[in-house]
Order: sequence, then C-alpha cells, then structure tokens
Amino acid sequence: MESSKRCTDVLIVGGGVAGSSIARELSRYSIRTLLVEKREDLARGASGANSGIVHAGYDPKPGSLMAKYNVKGCAMYPQLSRDLEFPYRPVGSLVIAFDEKGMETVRELYERGLENGVPDMEIITGDQARRMEPELSDAVVGALYAKSAGIISPYEATIAFAENAAVNGVEFLLEEPVYSIEKIKAGTEEEAFVVKTDHYEIEAKVVINAAGAGAGLVSSMAGAEKIEISERKGEYTLYDRNLGGFVSTVIFQTPDEAGKGVLVTPTAEGNLLLGPSSDPIEEGEETATATTQEGQDKIFKMGRKSTPNLPFGGAITGFAGIRAVFGSDFYIKPSDMVPGLIQVAGICSPGLTSAPAIAEDVAQMAVQLLKERGVDASLKENWISKRKGIPSVREMSWEERNALCQEDPSFGQIVCRCETVTEGQIRMALRSPIPVYTIDGVKRRCRAGMGRCQGSFCSPVVMRLISEAAGIPFDQVRKAGKGTEIGQGKLKEI
Ligand SMILES: Cc1cc2nc3c(=O)[nH]c(=O)nc-3n(C[C@H](O)[C@H](O)[C@H](O)COP(=O)(O)OP(=O)(O)OC[C@H]3O[C@@H](n4cnc5c(N)ncnc54)[C@H](O)[C@@H]3O)c2cc1C
Repeated sequence: MESSKRCTDVLIVGGGVAGSSIARELSRYSIRTLLVEKREDLARGASGANSGIVHAGYDPKPGSLMAKYNVKGCAMYPQLSRDLEFPYRPVGSLVIAFDEKGMETVRELYERGLENGVPDMEIITGDQARRMEPELSDAVVGALYAKSAGIISPYEATIAFAENAAVNGVEFLLEEPVYSIEKIKAGTEEEAFVVKTDHYEIEAKVVINAAGAGAGLVSSMAGAEKIEISERKGEYTLYDRNLGGFVSTVIFQTPDEAGKGVLVTPTAEGNLLLGPSSDPIEEGEETATATTQEGQDKIFKMGRKSTPNLPFGGAITGFAGIRAVFGSDFYIKPSDMVPGLIQVAGICSPGLTSAPAIAEDVAQMAVQLLKERGVDASLKENWISKRKGIPSVREMSWEERNALCQEDPSFGQIVCRCETVTEGQIRMALRSPIPVYTIDGVKRRCRAGMGRCQGSFCSPVVMRLISEAAGIPFDQVRKAGKGTEIGQGKLKEI
C-alpha cells in the first residue's frame, strides 16, 4: 500500500505523558505539530501503568534534571488538573522508617528535599504518623511527611494533555509505529527528516524522541547517540473502591538493602493500590506486562509490613508497568549528533510528575530549532488553555444528575454498574477530540469496566456503542490493539 505523505514542523514520537504534554506546550505556537504513537491509544507505555504519585521531590539527587523537573512539575499539577479536568488529590506522602537506620534515611531525604526546594516537609514520630494513618504498623518509629505530594490518574492526565493539544491543532496518528527516520535536504537546502510509519511518510523539520522504552531504537533509527535503555517490571495489585479509605496518604517504605519497598496508597479515583515490585524482565515485550502469582504474593507481603491489616480479599485486578531507565538521570537535550533531533529519554520515575515541566523546556528547544530553520514560531493569540472532561455521574448529587438527564436522557442510563457510568458518558468518550474505538480506550476515558466486575456486565453494551460510533460491525470491536477482537462470529442467524 502506498504511504500517505505529510509535512509538519515538529514530529513527536511517543504518546505517553512526556510526548502528550510536549504536544500541549507546542500547541501554544502557530506551528504544525504531529504526534505519532505505535499503540492503539495514548498512555499505553509506562504512562498508563504506574503508581500515579505526584512526588514531592525529596528523592532525586540535588542538581539533577530529575530534581529540577520533579519539584516544578509537582507544583504545576494542582492548576493543570483544574484546567484540564483530570483527577488529582493533594493527599501528601509519608516515608516510614522501622528502625534507626531507616530514620537516618528519613533525615537524608529531608535534607535532600530542602536542597531541592521541596516545600512543607516535616519529620514526625511513629505515633504522629499513626494518628494520621491508624492502619500503620506499630513498628513504625518515624516518618518524613511531605504535604505537597499528591495522586493523579496517570492515563487520564496523559489523555487530557493530548486532547487539549488536539483542540489546539496538534494532529495525532495512533497505531503508527515509526520504523525509519532519514535525514534529507528539503527544498532550499535546509535539513529535514523523513519519518516512516506503516501508512505515512512524514517530512518534519524537528523530531522529538519521547518513545519511552523505545527511545534507544528511535535514536538509532535517526543515526543519533546510543541510548541503552534497561527495563524493569513493576507489578501492582488494585483493590476495590470500598477499600479506598484504608489509608489516606501515600505510604512509602524507606529503601533498604532488599530494595525500595512497596507503597500503599489511595488512587485518585478512590481505589487502594499496592506495589510496585521491581523485577528484571526476561520475557519478550508481548508478555512483559503480565502479572504473576509470585509477584502478587511478594507485594502483598511487603505491603503488610507497612499496614498489617491489609485485607487479603478485595483485590480486583493486577497490572504491571515497565520502567525505562537510562543512566541515573533524565536524558533531555538536543542530540549531540543529529541536529534537529531532541532526545527526551530515560524518563523513569519521577517522570509522570516531571512531564509538564519537562514539556515547557522541550517546547522551548523545539521553537528555538524552528526559528533557526526560518520558521515563524510565534505564540497564538487564541490558544485554548482549558479542557472539558467527561462528567462523573457517580460523584454528582441527585440534583446534578437530574439536571444532566434533562439535557440528555442518556446520562440516566447506567451501563457500568460497578462505577456508575452512564451511556451519556460513554458516548462523550467516543466523541472526544482523539476518539479511540476500543473497550479499553472507553474504560480509560470514563471508567466503564474499571470496577469490581472488570467489565463482565457492561462490555456488550460498550461494544454496541463503539460499533455504532465507529461504524464497524459488532464482532470487529476490539478490546485494545490489533487481534483483540472480542466477537468470534455469530452463534446463529437471528
Ligand atoms: C512501575 C512504575 C511506577 C512509576 N511510578 C511513578 C510515579 O508514581 N510517579 C511518577 O512521577 N513517575 C512514575 N513512574 C515513571 C513514569 O511512569 C514515567 O516516567 C513516564 O510515564 C514516562 O513517560 P514517557 O512518555 O516518557 O514514556 P511512555 O509512557 O512509555 O511513552 C512512550 C510511548 O512511545 C511509544 N513508542 C515507542 N516506540 C515508538 C515508535 N517506534 N513509534 C511510535 N511510538 C513509539 C510507546 O508505545 C509509548 O506509548 C513510574 C514508572 C513505572 C514503570
């Protein structure tokens, strides 16, 4: 099949939180920006499977890029969540210590936090910590309390950045893996890239490599520096929302020789989350995010160290994310070897927290490169800074629900009973600026199928709504990527 040809000023490779927040920053400028993502939806890499913590910033080494972007990003999230309407809760975090050695670490983290400019930190006693968190173990002797930490929905934040960028003119091509990047002389001898995907051949003046675990491959495609990403798996257990109040802050353990420990935290959507593990990846990419009984048992045991009454039942699902690590800091800079290429690689934790701050600087780098190439990259006067999210009927009062149903009765038709998600919300998800016609795409946008039954009851209705919105037969509706069609054919003709 012949590729369709496109031309853009900036091409971003990767639709995780880094790529999507950079897209939003670039959408402020009167330039052409295009984002290419290999998976069928945004936030399908590390950005969709992590702890969702907006870290306060006491952990990274002072003077590092991680320290700079973490503290800045943490301060940006409260306003961003209001402007872009994604879930964020300023719950604060505790790093708990079980002995004097742990307290030494707590004091080190406190000092590091001061150096990094983290506001509102306090070292508290074990009893003070237990007054805040009654489920904490009696063995806890003290803790670092960081009030500026929070929790967000990582995939909803990523989608919100991307949708706001799309409304401001950024184009998104999903399910288009970049497989070749060639440097060319375009038109008047200026340098440009030709980037190839399955269906497109895209000419771009600037390329931003925000490909997460794929950043090494993308860099080598462009003939740029060697970026060797090492990967480790982090497994989680997600508990039902009726356990969302088990703890009210993010509870970390102090790292020791056995590792970084696991956290126990509420999620921004009101569940309880336990994890992550840290395991080397042996399987191929297809199975790398599979969970194992061994992994689930391990995090449960470690979680019980912090909160001994952590219930055995109530877990509704497990998932795993892949950490993409390169060296000991983020690697964010214009390539030393290939002019016009910007590297945004090695974005491991605290990358989710840091992304909006990283995006500001990377957008500046891209604008500078465009200006050097004669592009008039001026700020738009009519940039839209806000995004309307999908209303959460579950969180509304009866009066608010009634008012919504008066406008559109489909908001009175509950489809997902676990999460109280209505047909109106699902239809909104399918009409969003970057519609994704898959069951998981709908789930990430409005929570249909996110609850206790994990979609057992609502999936057929969600499939019907997807089939209508996308104009595809019911049995071609997919759960996620290619080959995940749910229906296998008709049992009998009706
Ligand atoms: C277990 C775990 C827990 C974490 N917890 C936290 C936390 O609590 N707080 C925090 O701040 N950070 C956390 N992080 C870190 C955070 O998740 C990452 O830093 C962040 O998500 C990285 O975003 P990204 O956009 O760089 O990468 P990704 O989200 O991985 O996005 C990269 C995208 O590029 C795409 N791509 C790759 N190759 C190509 C190609 N050739 N063509 C097109 N597209 C391509 C991928 O499909 C992917 O969607 C955690 C990470 C993990 C794994």
